[in-house]
Amino acid sequence: MLLVRSHHLLLHHAARLSPRAAPRLLLLHHHHRHRHRAAVRLRPPRMSSSSASSNTSSPAPSPPAPVSAIDQLADWATSPLRNPVCCTRVPKSKIRFCPSCGSPTKLAIPDGDEKMRAVCSSCGRVHYENPKMVVGCLVEHDNKVLLCRRKIEPAYGLWTLPAGYLEVGESAAEGASRETLEEACADVDILSPFAQLDIPLIGQSYIIFRARLKTPNFSPGPESLECALFALDDIPFDSLAFSSIIVTLRMYLEDVKSGNIKFHYCTINKRLGTGASDLRSFDIDNHLSV
Ligand SMILES: [Zn+2]
Repeated sequence: MLLVRSHHLLLHHAARLSPRAAPRLLLLHHHHRHRHRAAVRLRPPRMSSSSASSNTSSPAPSPPAPVSAIDQLADWATSPLRNPVCCTRVPKSKIRFCPSCGSPTKLAIPDGDEKMRAVCSSCGRVHYENPKMVVGCLVEHDNKVLLCRRKIEPAYGLWTLPAGYLEVGESAAEGASRETLEEACADVDILSPFAQLDIPLIGQSYIIFRARLKTPNFSPGPESLECALFALDDIPFDSLAFSSIIVTLRMYLEDVKSGNIKFHYCTINKRLGTGASDLRSFDIDNHLSV
Protein backbone atom coordinates (compact mmCIF):
# COMPACT_ATOMS: atom_id res chain seq x y z
CA MET A 1 0.00 0.00 0.00
CA LEU A 2 1.25 3.45 -0.86
CA LEU A 3 0.86 6.13 1.72
CA VAL A 4 1.02 9.79 1.03
CA ARG A 5 2.43 12.37 3.36
CA SER A 6 1.34 15.67 2.00
CA HIS A 7 3.82 17.79 3.89
CA HIS A 8 6.49 16.27 1.71
CA LEU A 9 4.85 17.62 -1.39
CA LEU A 10 6.88 20.49 -2.68
CA LEU A 11 7.08 22.08 -6.05
CA HIS A 12 10.20 23.13 -7.79
CA HIS A 13 10.83 25.55 -10.59
CA ALA A 14 11.90 23.75 -13.69
CA ALA A 15 14.83 25.23 -15.52
CA ARG A 16 13.78 27.28 -18.49
CA LEU A 17 15.59 28.33 -21.53
CA SER A 18 16.71 31.81 -22.24
CA PRO A 19 15.15 33.67 -25.14
CA ARG A 20 17.61 33.85 -27.96
CA ALA A 21 17.14 37.58 -28.17
CA ALA A 22 17.97 38.10 -24.53
CA PRO A 23 20.61 35.59 -23.58
CA ARG A 24 21.53 37.39 -20.38
CA LEU A 25 18.12 36.55 -19.07
CA LEU A 26 18.95 32.91 -19.06
CA LEU A 27 16.87 31.23 -16.47
CA LEU A 28 18.90 28.87 -14.47
CA HIS A 29 17.27 27.61 -11.38
CA HIS A 30 19.11 26.44 -8.39
CA HIS A 31 18.13 24.78 -5.28
CA HIS A 32 17.72 27.22 -2.45
CA ARG A 33 18.46 26.10 1.02
CA HIS A 34 18.02 27.72 4.36
CA ARG A 35 19.87 30.96 4.08
CA HIS A 36 19.85 34.38 2.52
CA ARG A 37 23.13 35.83 1.44
CA ALA A 38 23.98 38.96 -0.38
CA ALA A 39 26.69 37.86 -2.70
CA VAL A 40 28.40 34.90 -4.21
CA ARG A 41 31.18 33.87 -1.90
CA LEU A 42 33.95 31.61 -2.81
CA ARG A 43 35.80 32.26 0.40
CA PRO A 44 35.92 31.60 3.20
CA PRO A 45 34.65 28.04 2.88
CA ARG A 46 31.40 27.51 4.70
CA MET A 47 29.75 24.35 5.75
CA SER A 48 26.00 24.12 5.38
CA SER A 49 25.23 21.82 8.24
CA SER A 50 24.01 24.67 10.44
CA SER A 51 20.95 26.87 10.47
CA ALA A 52 17.63 25.41 9.59
CA SER A 53 14.96 27.78 8.39
CA SER A 54 14.24 30.68 10.68
CA ASN A 55 10.67 30.80 9.52
CA THR A 56 9.10 30.19 12.89
CA SER A 57 5.69 31.34 11.73
CA SER A 58 5.13 28.20 9.71
CA PRO A 59 2.62 25.78 11.20
CA ALA A 60 3.85 22.59 12.73
CA PRO A 61 4.14 19.64 10.38
CA SER A 62 0.96 17.74 9.87
CA PRO A 63 0.98 14.11 10.89
CA PRO A 64 1.18 11.73 7.97
CA ALA A 65 -2.23 10.84 6.66
CA PRO A 66 -3.03 8.30 3.97
CA VAL A 67 -5.03 9.69 1.08
CA SER A 68 -5.99 8.41 -2.30
CA ALA A 69 -3.67 8.61 -5.23
CA ILE A 70 -5.95 11.13 -6.92
CA ASP A 71 -6.01 13.34 -3.85
CA GLN A 72 -2.29 12.97 -3.71
CA LEU A 73 -1.79 14.27 -7.22
CA ALA A 74 -3.94 17.32 -6.47
CA ASP A 75 -2.03 17.89 -3.28
CA TRP A 76 1.26 17.58 -5.10
CA ALA A 77 0.32 20.41 -7.37
CA THR A 78 -1.04 22.85 -4.82
CA SER A 79 0.29 22.07 -1.38
CA PRO A 80 2.22 24.88 0.32
CA LEU A 81 5.30 24.17 2.32
CA ARG A 82 4.06 22.85 5.62
CA ASN A 83 7.13 21.43 7.20
CA PRO A 84 9.31 24.21 8.65
CA VAL A 85 12.26 21.88 9.11
CA CYS A 86 12.19 20.07 5.82
CA CYS A 87 12.12 23.09 3.55
CA THR A 88 14.18 21.50 0.82
CA ARG A 89 12.48 21.80 -2.52
CA VAL A 90 12.52 18.62 -4.49
CA PRO A 91 11.91 18.28 -8.20
CA LYS A 92 8.63 16.86 -9.37
CA SER A 93 9.05 13.60 -11.20
CA LYS A 94 9.27 13.85 -14.97
CA ILE A 95 8.49 10.19 -15.45
CA ARG A 96 4.87 10.31 -16.55
CA PHE A 97 4.71 6.87 -18.11
CA CYS A 98 6.18 3.59 -16.94
CA PRO A 99 9.35 2.73 -18.89
CA SER A 100 8.56 -0.94 -18.31
CA CYS A 101 4.93 -1.25 -19.41
CA GLY A 102 3.92 2.18 -20.73
CA SER A 103 1.12 2.79 -18.24
CA PRO A 104 0.77 6.20 -16.55
CA THR A 105 2.69 6.64 -13.34
CA LYS A 106 1.45 8.24 -10.16
CA LEU A 107 3.37 10.09 -7.50
CA ALA A 108 3.55 8.36 -4.17
CA ILE A 109 5.84 7.47 -1.31
CA PRO A 110 6.42 3.71 -1.43
CA ASP A 111 6.39 1.74 1.78
CA GLY A 112 9.74 2.00 3.48
CA ASP A 113 10.69 5.07 1.48
CA GLU A 114 10.66 8.73 2.41
CA LYS A 115 10.46 10.45 -0.94
CA MET A 116 7.96 10.89 -3.70
CA ARG A 117 8.52 8.49 -6.53
CA ALA A 118 6.95 7.83 -9.89
CA VAL A 119 5.09 4.57 -9.35
CA CYS A 120 3.48 2.67 -12.21
CA SER A 121 -0.29 2.56 -11.85
CA SER A 122 -0.37 -0.81 -13.56
CA CYS A 123 2.69 -2.93 -12.80
CA GLY A 124 3.61 -1.12 -9.58
CA ARG A 125 7.26 -0.63 -10.44
CA VAL A 126 8.96 2.30 -8.73
CA HIS A 127 11.00 4.48 -11.06
CA TYR A 128 13.78 6.42 -9.41
CA GLU A 129 15.33 9.59 -10.76
CA ASN A 130 18.92 10.35 -9.98
CA PRO A 131 21.21 13.27 -10.75
CA LYS A 132 23.06 13.44 -14.03
CA MET A 133 26.76 13.97 -14.33
CA VAL A 134 28.15 16.73 -16.50
CA VAL A 135 31.83 16.54 -17.41
CA GLY A 136 34.06 19.06 -19.09
CA CYS A 137 37.51 20.53 -19.52
CA LEU A 138 39.20 23.70 -18.48
CA VAL A 139 41.79 23.75 -21.28
CA GLU A 140 44.89 25.79 -20.52
CA HIS A 141 47.13 27.08 -23.29
CA ASP A 142 49.67 29.92 -23.13
CA ASN A 143 48.16 31.24 -19.89
CA LYS A 144 44.76 31.32 -21.53
CA VAL A 145 41.66 29.15 -21.28
CA LEU A 146 39.57 27.73 -24.10
CA LEU A 147 35.92 28.77 -24.22
CA CYS A 148 33.15 27.89 -26.64
CA ARG A 149 30.19 30.10 -27.59
CA ARG A 150 27.07 28.00 -27.62
CA LYS A 151 25.22 27.37 -30.86
CA ILE A 152 22.41 25.55 -29.06
CA GLU A 153 19.90 26.24 -26.35
CA PRO A 154 19.95 26.66 -23.48
CA ALA A 155 22.19 29.69 -23.30
CA TYR A 156 22.53 30.18 -27.05
CA GLY A 157 25.27 32.70 -27.81
CA LEU A 158 26.88 32.56 -24.37
CA TRP A 159 30.34 31.31 -23.52
CA THR A 160 31.05 28.08 -21.73
CA LEU A 161 33.73 25.53 -21.06
CA PRO A 162 33.45 22.50 -23.33
CA ALA A 163 31.26 20.17 -21.26
CA GLY A 164 28.30 17.87 -21.52
CA TYR A 165 26.54 14.83 -20.15
CA LEU A 166 28.62 11.80 -19.33
CA GLU A 167 27.67 8.76 -21.39
CA VAL A 168 27.21 5.25 -20.08
CA GLY A 169 30.36 3.28 -20.79
CA GLU A 170 32.88 6.08 -20.44
CA SER A 171 34.81 7.47 -17.52
CA ALA A 172 34.41 11.07 -16.43
CA ALA A 173 37.82 11.91 -17.90
CA GLU A 174 36.95 10.22 -21.18
CA GLY A 175 33.67 12.07 -21.33
CA ALA A 176 35.36 15.40 -20.69
CA SER A 177 37.86 14.73 -23.49
CA ARG A 178 35.08 13.68 -25.84
CA GLU A 179 33.03 16.79 -25.13
CA THR A 180 36.06 18.95 -25.78
CA LEU A 181 36.67 17.21 -29.07
CA GLU A 182 33.01 17.55 -30.05
CA GLU A 183 32.53 21.17 -29.06
CA ALA A 184 35.95 22.62 -29.84
CA CYS A 185 37.52 20.03 -32.15
CA ALA A 186 40.36 20.06 -29.64
CA ASP A 187 42.36 16.97 -28.78
CA VAL A 188 43.42 17.24 -25.16
CA ASP A 189 45.36 15.52 -22.44
CA ILE A 190 43.62 15.47 -19.09
CA LEU A 191 45.93 16.91 -16.41
CA SER A 192 43.98 16.73 -13.17
CA PRO A 193 40.51 17.07 -11.70
CA PHE A 194 39.82 20.72 -10.91
CA ALA A 195 36.31 20.95 -9.51
CA GLN A 196 33.23 18.99 -8.60
CA LEU A 197 30.14 21.16 -8.39
CA ASP A 198 26.77 19.86 -7.27
CA ILE A 199 23.55 21.62 -8.29
CA PRO A 200 20.87 19.81 -6.30
CA LEU A 201 17.86 21.70 -7.61
CA ILE A 202 18.37 20.61 -11.17
CA GLY A 203 19.93 17.26 -10.32
CA GLN A 204 23.33 17.82 -11.86
CA SER A 205 26.85 17.20 -10.68
CA TYR A 206 29.73 18.68 -12.64
CA ILE A 207 33.27 17.37 -12.82
CA ILE A 208 35.66 19.74 -14.54
CA PHE A 209 39.19 18.67 -15.43
CA ARG A 210 42.20 20.77 -16.21
CA ALA A 211 43.54 19.78 -19.62
CA ARG A 212 46.03 20.87 -22.25
CA LEU A 213 45.95 20.87 -26.02
CA LYS A 214 47.87 18.06 -27.63
CA THR A 215 48.32 20.31 -30.64
CA PRO A 216 47.53 24.03 -30.77
CA ASN A 217 44.51 23.43 -32.94
CA PHE A 218 40.83 23.96 -32.24
CA SER A 219 37.75 25.07 -34.13
CA PRO A 220 34.04 25.22 -33.41
CA GLY A 221 32.20 21.92 -33.48
CA PRO A 222 28.55 21.63 -34.54
CA GLU A 223 27.28 22.89 -31.18
CA SER A 224 29.57 25.94 -31.05
CA LEU A 225 29.40 29.29 -32.83
CA GLU A 226 33.05 29.94 -32.13
CA CYS A 227 35.87 28.86 -29.86
CA ALA A 228 38.59 31.08 -28.50
CA LEU A 229 41.42 31.27 -26.01
CA PHE A 230 40.90 33.94 -23.37
CA ALA A 231 43.53 35.52 -21.18
CA LEU A 232 42.36 35.29 -17.60
CA ASP A 233 41.73 39.02 -17.37
CA ASP A 234 39.59 38.86 -20.50
CA ILE A 235 37.21 36.08 -19.54
CA PRO A 236 33.72 37.30 -20.46
CA PHE A 237 32.09 36.84 -17.07
CA ASP A 238 29.07 38.86 -18.19
CA SER A 239 28.44 36.45 -21.03
CA LEU A 240 28.98 33.06 -19.44
CA ALA A 241 26.30 30.45 -19.95
CA PHE A 242 25.86 28.78 -16.58
CA SER A 243 26.47 29.39 -12.91
CA SER A 244 28.67 26.29 -12.84
CA ILE A 245 30.96 27.88 -15.41
CA ILE A 246 31.05 31.17 -13.53
CA VAL A 247 32.01 29.35 -10.34
CA THR A 248 34.63 27.19 -12.03
CA LEU A 249 36.34 30.10 -13.73
CA ARG A 250 36.26 32.29 -10.62
CA MET A 251 37.88 29.55 -8.61
CA TYR A 252 40.46 29.00 -11.31
CA LEU A 253 41.21 32.72 -11.51
CA GLU A 254 41.73 32.93 -7.77
CA ASP A 255 43.95 29.87 -7.77
CA VAL A 256 46.13 31.10 -10.62
CA LYS A 257 46.54 34.51 -9.02
CA SER A 258 47.49 32.92 -5.71
CA GLY A 259 49.91 30.58 -7.46
CA ASN A 260 48.25 27.49 -6.03
CA ILE A 261 45.83 25.58 -8.22
CA LYS A 262 43.71 23.31 -6.05
CA PHE A 263 40.87 20.85 -6.35
CA HIS A 264 37.51 22.28 -5.36
CA TYR A 265 34.22 20.85 -4.25
CA CYS A 266 31.10 22.91 -3.64
CA THR A 267 27.35 23.05 -3.95
CA ILE A 268 25.61 25.71 -6.01
CA ASN A 269 22.26 26.78 -4.60
CA LYS A 270 19.69 29.25 -5.80
CA ARG A 271 19.53 32.18 -3.42
CA LEU A 272 16.28 32.44 -1.53
CA GLY A 273 13.96 35.19 -2.65
CA THR A 274 15.71 36.04 -5.88
CA GLY A 275 14.23 36.01 -9.33
CA ALA A 276 14.55 32.94 -11.43
CA SER A 277 15.92 35.00 -14.29
CA ASP A 278 18.96 36.15 -12.38
CA LEU A 279 21.76 33.85 -13.43
CA ARG A 280 23.98 35.19 -10.70
CA SER A 281 21.60 34.80 -7.78
CA PHE A 282 23.23 31.73 -6.39
CA ASP A 283 25.26 30.84 -3.36
CA ILE A 284 28.23 28.60 -2.91
CA ASP A 285 27.90 26.12 -0.07
CA ASN A 286 30.20 23.44 1.28
CA HIS A 287 33.20 24.85 -0.49
CA LEU A 288 36.14 22.58 0.16
CA SER A 289 39.49 22.71 -1.54
CA VAL A 290 42.68 20.74 -1.30
ZN1 LIG B 1 4.48 -0.39 -15.41
